[in-house]
Amino acid sequence: MTKTTQGVRGMNDVLPEQSPRWQWVERCAREVFAAYGYEEIRLPIVERTELFARAIGEVTDIVEKEMYTFDDRNGDSLTLRPEATAGCVRAGIEHGFLHNQVRRLWYAGPMFRHERPQQGRYRQFHQIGAEALGLDGPDIDAEIIVLSARLLKQIGVGDFTLRLNSLGTPASRIAYREALQSYFSEHAAVLDEDSRRRLDRNPLRILDSKHPAVQPILADAPSLQDHLDDGSRAHFDRLCELLTAAGVGFVLDPRLVRGLDYYTKTVFEWTTTQLGAQDAVCSGGRYDGLVELLGGRPTPAVGWALGVERLVALVERADIQVPDASPHAYLVAVGDAAASAALVLAERIRDAVPGVRLVLHCGAGGFRNQMKKADKSGARIALVLGDDELAAGTIGIKPLRDDAAQETVAQDALADALTKYLDDWRA
Ligand code: ATP
Ligand code: MG
Repeated sequence: MTKTTQGVRGMNDVLPEQSPRWQWVERCAREVFAAYGYEEIRLPIVERTELFARAIGEVTDIVEKEMYTFDDRNGDSLTLRPEATAGCVRAGIEHGFLHNQVRRLWYAGPMFRHERPQQGRYRQFHQIGAEALGLDGPDIDAEIIVLSARLLKQIGVGDFTLRLNSLGTPASRIAYREALQSYFSEHAAVLDEDSRRRLDRNPLRILDSKHPAVQPILADAPSLQDHLDDGSRAHFDRLCELLTAAGVGFVLDPRLVRGLDYYTKTVFEWTTTQLGAQDAVCSGGRYDGLVELLGGRPTPAVGWALGVERLVALVERADIQVPDASPHAYLVAVGDAAASAALVLAERIRDAVPGVRLVLHCGAGGFRNQMKKADKSGARIALVLGDDELAAGTIGIKPLRDDAAQETVAQDALADALTKYLDDWRA
């Protein structure tokens, strides 16, 4: 294969065989968001580079080394979005839909990060995300987490753990930062290069390090829980109460800090043991400072994003039976006259039978050849229109997947017959 016909590393095609699982995840998301009154927002894939640098934080993996950044023809520095919260807040400020309002929003789409491609980690990947803006209480944190729990349950793959932590306010983090700095300085010898560099500017990031050498010293690092301010503690305790009341179990994970700088107070992550190292399927938290940081009026907010590839992989592993997308019927028509009649008949059927998936044979060919295509299409029945049927105004119905009887019906009765088949298959 030449380079021209090779996709970009870490950027994958979703082939038709895989699409039904994607559609299943997307459909569950749509339904669950609707059930909680979240509205869809569609955002551009490209934003100004400085938006991400400011929102995500200069000293983060994403901004330091993972962004797809380029100059456009005007010389403006633009970036393929690595996440969508920044764009969502940008849109809110630009269109003024955040001020004195509560907004419950969701989005879905591709994100781009130049990471090392591996199972569950890609350079173009897809997120579905939720953001609730304008509310500062733990009740909305609880709602948005309960929503994510319902979505995971609806998709049907089980065995998730909800990890929960509080990062406190930026003010309470100052003292914690100092404690961390002095602790990590004592262990500077075992820190990897990235962590050592972050010791001064962003020691919290070290807690998020995946470097094996760093793991042992993380266990005894000072805990943020011991430095929480009273307000953040009360917020967190109430959130735990609400989740318990809603029957959503969780574990406290004092080392959960998340990879983006904008989080305050609540952070959480849904993890699974079924995906190896890439164990996070959904992560999020509160970001009370972000709207103001980007130039809007202070607006509290909380949100999460889930990785669609990782969920689809779980759907596949668990062999969840997602709604079938293969055709119900394949219309075989032999000869020019039959082909003309078939085109018209197929349109009539699609008008009359809601939800029918009917493939019309194109490309001429004999009966045997067309029947082979019918079989290959995955259709459950073939509709056969030959010379005899044409003359008699009838059509043959030939089951392809079971030994049900073959039958011939009047073309005028086909819509009713198909409706009945569809009802039987749905039952
Ligand atoms: P991780 O710890 O796995 O790198 P993250 O903390 O960077 O995840 P977020 O930025 O919060 O993740 O994104 C939310 C979700 O998006 C993650 O929980 C994960 O499911 C998914 N995700 C993140 N990066 C990738 C990627 N490169 N490829 C596929 N999915 C991803
Ligand atoms: Mg990451």
